[in-house]
Amino acid sequence: MQKTVDIRRNDQVRVITGRDKGKQGRVLRVMPDEGKVLVEHVMMVKKNVRPNPQRNIKGGIAEQESAISISNVMLMCNSCNRPVRVGHEYHGDRHVRVCKKCGTTLEK
Ligand SMILES: [Zn+2]
Repeated sequence: MQKTVDIRRNDQVRVITGRDKGKQGRVLRVMPDEGKVLVEHVMMVKKNVRPNPQRNIKGGIAEQESAISISNVMLMCNSCNRPVRVGHEYHGDRHVRVCKKCGTTLEK
């Protein structure tokens, strides 16, 4: 059975648990097989970068996002202005995600 994930790229999500609880950001990448998402400015980790003069990279320490479990984030509803549970509706044969609280579509 194919895993369905309620979160897509460019969604706004809120971290609901873990180290970065309360942070909000844009989804950069969804990894359904691993059950993880990459969220902008969330779960930042420091990474050593080797200098590479040919590519004009100085080296040192850079920060980058690391993946967070999908169950640790919730989709934001613009109308409710809070993280909400996602419902599903079919408009004809088009599947849309809706806010379970206010019923507003979560598609852009
Ligand atoms: Zn809502």
